[in-house]
Amino acid sequence: MTTQPSLASRLIEAHADFPMTQPADRHARWLPAAASLLSLLVFLAAVPFSKIPLQPVPAFIPIYESALIVNDLITSVLLFGQCVISRSRALGALASGYLYTATLAFFHMLSFPGLFSPTGLLGAGAQSTAWIYMFWHAGFPLFVIAYALLKGRRQDEMAGNPLGAGRLFIIIGAVLCAGAALAALATAGAHLLPDIMAGNHYTPKMLAVAGTAWGCCLLGLVVLWRQRWHSIIDLWLMVVLCAWICDVALSVVFNAGRYDLGFYAGRMYGLFAASFVLLLLLVENSSLQSRLAAALDELKRLATSDPLTGIANRRAFETALAAHWRRAAHGSSPLSMLMIDIDFFKQFNDHYGHVEGDRCLVLVAECLVRTARRGTDLVARYGGEEFAVLLPDTDAASAAHIGQRMCDAVAALAIPNAGAAGRPNVTISVGVASRIVEAGAAPMDLTKAADRALYAAKAAGRARVEEASSEEPEWRTS
Ligand code: GH3
Ligand code: MG
Ligand code: MG
Repeated sequence: MTTQPSLASRLIEAHADFPMTQPADRHARWLPAAASLLSLLVFLAAVPFSKIPLQPVPAFIPIYESALIVNDLITSVLLFGQCVISRSRALGALASGYLYTATLAFFHMLSFPGLFSPTGLLGAGAQSTAWIYMFWHAGFPLFVIAYALLKGRRQDEMAGNPLGAGRLFIIIGAVLCAGAALAALATAGAHLLPDIMAGNHYTPKMLAVAGTAWGCCLLGLVVLWRQRWHSIIDLWLMVVLCAWICDVALSVVFNAGRYDLGFYAGRMYGLFAASFVLLLLLVENSSLQSRLAAALDELKRLATSDPLTGIANRRAFETALAAHWRRAAHGSSPLSMLMIDIDFFKQFNDHYGHVEGDRCLVLVAECLVRTARRGTDLVARYGGEEFAVLLPDTDAASAAHIGQRMCDAVAALAIPNAGAAGRPNVTISVGVASRIVEAGAAPMDLTKAADRALYAAKAAGRARVEEASSEEPEWRTS
């Protein structure tokens, strides 16, 4: 069946091949390129003014850092989700990177002087916040480098070793511990680190430390750039690193200290940069959802339809029969069923071949669907060349009438059946069963009765309609 591989591939596409991790085409490059260029232009325009002191707004830090932490945490959760599904170590490294930035941004906020206490929480000294900022900005590019190197490997898959909940918790725990340990070093162990702040201003040592963080961003950018192929995520990660390079340069290298133009502008850069990958993942998620819904619809259609004729299959028929049976039991309304079998179909196949036989089945199915006029009537392919028709709210006489109409309609198709002795065209036999549903009866009783009526029609000479006898034992209720 040709439909199966297409469904399988659609499901695989919807689940595993996250579009953002696939190689980017030329059209996908212009937007990240434009964003990088814009970022560079804003940076060049801001550099000459970066030392201009502005009004200190301590509330700016918690607002911007809360947004940053939420952004980074959501990005991390989405990336870990993709990592688990696609079993990509590279995505695991990147997800860890975002978790790391969220962790350090959190400690940065707690230790920032004047926010939660005049000197900052966690026993922070004058250097603590600046050091946490440096660990944060030098650390993230290292995760990006790990991502790029793992992605570059031929088999970036945890083959036979999927990332289960246990391993996931270990990775998350390790990242959180690393972040907390660095925050502890920057706060409780601040005396072990060189002085990089004097009041609100930077010391000369800051240049070397900031240069290291800046170098890490640059190295991350180069490693990503040198990859053999770039995914859309890679392109936007390069934009993020460009923004981080501008962020560190503006807020540490070219400015003079806290609360000047460079300080504010650099942090705005950081916030925008954090949003790029998140936006990308959210767009991807909603497109995946719609593809998954479409694949699910397709799956439902395939599960309930007959691949040859396109009409309902036996499963759909039995589901509908059970539902209508329950409904009829409540409303005491009649429920009827036709069981239809093509006459001398074996001879048809023997004479014309199975391909023509299949074509004949399609023509008969279409004819039956056309003839069952009400929207609630259901025509299904029940077996090889057997069809079943469910007729809700229809009594025996009306059902027999519809059965006769179907008999006539199929005969009117005038499909030759030279193989059938004494019968020039394809005909059908129809068994009719109808009943007002009573307690204790089962839908299978109706099917059995229709089947028996069909055999009676065959025995009576075929090409006719026979009604089930009401005296049959299966009709008695207990
Ligand atoms: P009768 O009038 O008693 O029904 O005679 P018949 O030859 O139609 O006998 P039966 O109902 O047992 O027919 C079964 C035949 O239907 C066997 C097989 O060749 C044919 N058949 C069943 N499914 C298919 C199908 O999917 N395609 C084709 N081409 N033929 C099918
Ligand atoms: Mg048959
Ligand atoms: Mg038959």
